[in-house]
Amino acid sequence: MPNKAIVTGGAGFIGSHLCERLLGSGYEVICIDNFITGDRSNIEEFLDNENFRLIEHDITQPLIPEGLDFHGVKEIYNLACPASPVDYQNIPLETLWVSAAGTKNMLDLAVELKAKFLHTSTSEVYGDPLEHPQRESYWGNVNCMGPRSCYDEGKRFGESLISNYAHKYGVSTKIIRIFNTYGPKMRANDGRVIPNFITQALEGKPITVYGDGYQTRSFCYVSDMVDGITAMIGRERFAGPVNLGNPEEYSIKALAEKIVELTGSKSKVSYKDLPQDDPKVRRPDISLAKEKLGFSPKVGFEEGLKKTIEWFSS
Ligand code: UDP
Repeated sequence: MPNKAIVTGGAGFIGSHLCERLLGSGYEVICIDNFITGDRSNIEEFLDNENFRLIEHDITQPLIPEGLDFHGVKEIYNLACPASPVDYQNIPLETLWVSAAGTKNMLDLAVELKAKFLHTSTSEVYGDPLEHPQRESYWGNVNCMGPRSCYDEGKRFGESLISNYAHKYGVSTKIIRIFNTYGPKMRANDGRVIPNFITQALEGKPITVYGDGYQTRSFCYVSDMVDGITAMIGRERFAGPVNLGNPEEYSIKALAEKIVELTGSKSKVSYKDLPQDDPKVRRPDISLAKEKLGFSPKVGFEEGLKKTIEWFSS
């Protein structure tokens, strides 16, 4: 019997890369997505694969099992959630609700199927961090009423829900905290910094740096992130939470300059207001992921950016 997995948010950026990896490893994959921020084009290439099934469904609604064959599903990867600040601030209630009701519905399914449940949490649980780099033991600095709270608090609630389900029902759960990730299949208009800068540079438009550009982020190429996710599901007796990301840290200004250089663009930087509660620094401490999962990002920043630029150019 092949491994069988459900991937919620499987038509999203990271979700579609995860589906591809699982299919390549001989899995049967059931992708559940309502396309609120995911994109059908991300999974188009899998639709002819007999091991791939798409269920168009909003996981905040209970799954009606009639006609749906979840028999034999041993793993559920819960990725469904808008993840770009522009997206989630446009649809804050959907964002809160998918982290709450959506996660609950998928946990109930995991209990019923006795499947492992892997949840994608986020570096945003650390908010605008007062500890740097961020370790899993840090409790964070989140404005629970701010514009990012729908995402941050949704993900924090999700972590609480999952750990309590694990205690109450003995379901095997795993929480990863994903730091900024990039690569092909990001939506050009999703509002995040790398797709914005690349499309602006390719079109010769001004590069919109928010604030003074000295805020920092650490960017992980998507194949490294998928390596971390698959290592986590395979690791017995380790529930996390565990940080996954690339600890190389860059200022947003340096990122803008790098993208201009790699695209050979004539674009100039144009400074805009910094959005409220924008974290000033972010860098994962990945010691735990190294120790427990042997996780170590392999794709260098310039190499990853070149691949991403190539994808956006085509
Ligand atoms: N940013 C920017 N210009 C843009 C988009 C984003 O300067 O066109 C900045 C944003 O203010 C933040 C960083 O880039 O400091 C990363 O933003 P992103 O939306 O990618 O994700 P975040 O890490 O904030 O969730």
